[in-house]
Amino acid sequence: MNSMLNTLRRIVQEVNRAGTLHDGLEIIVSRIKSALEVDVCSVYIHEEESGELVLLATDGLLPAAVGRVRIPVTEGLVGWVAERAEPINIAGSSNHPRYRYFPETGEEQYEIFLGVPIIHHRQLLGVLTLQQFEGRFSEEVESFLITIASQLAGAIAHAEVSGGARKGRGEPFGRRVVVGRAGAPGIAVGRAVVVDTECKLSNIVDQPAENIKKEVALFRSALKQVKKELTKMSSSLEGQIPEDERALFDAYRMMLDGRSFNQEVIEQIKAGSWAPGALRKVVEHHVDVFRQMEDPYLQERANDILDLGRRLLKALVPCESDSEKLPKNIILVAVDVSAAMLAEMPVRRLRGIVSLRGSGNSHTAILARALNIPAVLGVDELPISMIANRELVVDGDSGEVHLKPSAKLKKEIRARRQVEEEINTELESIRDLPVVTLDGKKIELFVNSGLASDIRRNPDAAGVGLYRTEFPFMARDRFPGEDEQYHIYRNVLQTYAPLPVTMRTLDIGGDKALPYFPIEEDNPFLGWRGIRFTLDHPEIFLVQIRAMLRANAGIGNLRIMLPMISDINELKAARVLIDQAYSEVVGESYDSIERADIGVMIEVPSAVYQVDLIAQQCDFLSVGSNDLTQYLLAVDRNNPRVAEIYDSFHPAVLQALKLISLAGKKHKKPVSICGEMAGDPISAVILLGLGYEQLSMNASSLLKVKQFILEVDSKKNKRWVNSLLDVGDPVEVYVTIQRRFS
Ligand code: PEP
Ligand code: MG
Repeated sequence: MNSMLNTLRRIVQEVNRAGTLHDGLEIIVSRIKSALEVDVCSVYIHEEESGELVLLATDGLLPAAVGRVRIPVTEGLVGWVAERAEPINIAGSSNHPRYRYFPETGEEQYEIFLGVPIIHHRQLLGVLTLQQFEGRFSEEVESFLITIASQLAGAIAHAEVSGGARKGRGEPFGRRVVVGRAGAPGIAVGRAVVVDTECKLSNIVDQPAENIKKEVALFRSALKQVKKELTKMSSSLEGQIPEDERALFDAYRMMLDGRSFNQEVIEQIKAGSWAPGALRKVVEHHVDVFRQMEDPYLQERANDILDLGRRLLKALVPCESDSEKLPKNIILVAVDVSAAMLAEMPVRRLRGIVSLRGSGNSHTAILARALNIPAVLGVDELPISMIANRELVVDGDSGEVHLKPSAKLKKEIRARRQVEEEINTELESIRDLPVVTLDGKKIELFVNSGLASDIRRNPDAAGVGLYRTEFPFMARDRFPGEDEQYHIYRNVLQTYAPLPVTMRTLDIGGDKALPYFPIEEDNPFLGWRGIRFTLDHPEIFLVQIRAMLRANAGIGNLRIMLPMISDINELKAARVLIDQAYSEVVGESYDSIERADIGVMIEVPSAVYQVDLIAQQCDFLSVGSNDLTQYLLAVDRNNPRVAEIYDSFHPAVLQALKLISLAGKKHKKPVSICGEMAGDPISAVILLGLGYEQLSMNASSLLKVKQFILEVDSKKNKRWVNSLLDVGDPVEVYVTIQRRFS
C-alpha cells in the first residue's frame, strides 16, 4: 500500500517538473509501465478542435504511431472510455464491438485492455491506457490507474491550455498561457518579480539551459557567494555556539570546495539543464544516498545537504525581491500574495499581480481592485520558480497570465487600453450629475477604503462606507499603538468631514493574517475571525476604539461598524467595551466627545435570521455580501477550486438580502451594502430593486455604477427584481439577468 503511494507520489512529482509536454507524457507512460510491470502504457490527449483523441506517448506500442493515431471519441475502445467517462477493463479486446485496429501501433498482440479517462474540472482531457498480452488487470491496478489519472489531470490541463497538446513535441509543458481567476480588472505588461517566501528546491522544474556557459558561470558565482556567507556566519558565531556546531559551517565549505559536488552540478548543466534544475537533481541524489544509510548520524546529513542546496538556490534565483534591482514595470508574483508583500513594493511601479493561491473574492483581490492594479489569482499551476524576470501579461478580466506574450497580443493590449480610455472619458461626463434613478429616487454611493494611498477625498463618494482598519494593521510588524492609530483615523475623518466615515473594527482571521500574529487553523474562515478575535483580546479592541473616539473629537462623522457578528451577545459585549472606552476617553482628556453610531455587519447566516433583533440594538446595518455569500453557500471565498459556485446571485443570497433590507425599513435603520457586489453595475441594479439605497464600493467602480443607476426606472426595476426572487434555480436566475442586460 505504502509502496504504491510512494510510487504515485514520485511519478506525480516527476511529471510536475517535466520541462515539456512531451517529456511529461513520456515520464507518465514509462514510469507507470515499469511500476505496474505491464506490457504497454499509452496516453491519448483529447484535441478540442477536432474532437479526436491523439496518441501522444506510449511505452510498448510502436513509436511511429505517436502523433499519427487519432481516434474520434465515437470510435474504438479508447473513444468508448472517453464517451462514457468511466474506466473500461476488459479481456479479449479484439472481439469487442467497439474495437478498432490501428496497424501502425503493432497492438494486435495485446488482448487485455484497461483505459481510464483523464478528467479535470469536469472536462475530458484524455485517456490513459494499459495493454497486456495475457491475463487480466486486477482491481488494484485499475484503482491505481484511476488515482494517478486524477492526480495528473492538473498538469495535463495546464499543458492543454498552453496549446502544447496540439503542437506536440518540444512545446513547453504548460508555460504559454495559464488561467486562474480574474481578481482585478485591466491588463498589464511587465517583468515578473517573484517573491518566493518558501524558496524550495523541490519547486524547481526541469528546463533546458538556453546558454550553457552562462548557466555554469551563474552556478560558479552562486558557489562563491555561499562560501563567503558561510565564512561570515562562522566567524560571527565564534564563541557564541559550541565549537562542534560551528564546525558544520566548515563541513559545508569543504563540501563546496571539494570537486565532486560542484562537478556533478556542472556536468548536469553541460548535459543541457539550467543551473537551478541541475542543482536540484544533484542535491536530491545525495539526499537519497544519505537517507538510505543505516547509520542515523549519516542519515541526518541528508538535511545538511538540503540546507546547503537551499542556500545555493537562494543565490541562484533570488527568492526575495531586492528593491534596488526591481524593474520599471513590476508584475508581483508569489504563492500567496499578501498585503505585506504589496506594502513592500513601490506601488507606482507595480503594474500587475499574480497569486498562485486565492480567488476573485479573496482580500488580495479586493486590495488589488482598491489599488486599481490588474490581478489574477488561483493560478496554482504556474511554474513560479522559472518565471523570475520574464516578461508577463496579466489579464485581470479573463484571468489569463501570458508567459510568452506575442507582438500580436501587445497590439491588442494597446487597442484595449484605448477603448478603456474612451469609456473613462464618457464616465467623466456624468461626474457632476446627482445620483438619482430615472424616476428621481436618490441613491447614495460610498467608497470602500483602508489603504494609506487613499488619503485624498474621493469626489464621487458620499462618504466612506467601509474603512477596513485591518489594512494599516497588516502593513506593520507589530500592533499599531493608540496614538499611531489616532493619527491614521483622524486623517481619514478630517479628509471626509462632514461626510460620514464608517470604520470597521479590526477584522483579521480568514485570509487576512497579521505577519506578527499568525493564526494557524484548519478552517480559518470558520475560526477566530473579526469580532470573535477582538472580544477575546479586549486590550486590542479598547485601544482601537479609544483611538477612533479620540480621532472623532470635534469632527463627529465617525460611525463604528462591527464585523462577523453571529450572536446578539457579541453585539452586547462589544457595546459594553465601546461604552467603557468612551467614558475613559472623556474622563481623561475631553469634556465631552461626539458619540459614534454603532452598526453591525450582516455577513453570517445566523445574523440574517436575527436581523430584526440586531436592528433594534444598533444604529445601522451593512451587508458584507462577500462573506454572506461564502457562508450561505458553504463555499470558501479564497478557494479557486470552488470559485465557479461562489455566486452572489444565488436565490438563497437574494432572499437573504431581501430579508435584511426589509428589517432595516421596519426598524427605520439605514441599511447599506459594502461587499464587492455593490461595485458591480449589474448587481447594483439588482440591489436597488431589493431595497438598498446605500452602496459602498471600490473607488474605481463609483462612476460605472452611477452610469447604470441613472438609467434605471426604480419602480419597474423593483417589480422585475421581485419576480426574480421567485426563481429557484441559480442558472435560471443567471440567464434571466443576462437576458435583461445584454
Ligand atoms: C464582506 O464580507 O462583504 C466585507 C465587506 O468584508 P470583507 O470582504 O473585508 O470580509
Ligand atoms: Mg467580511
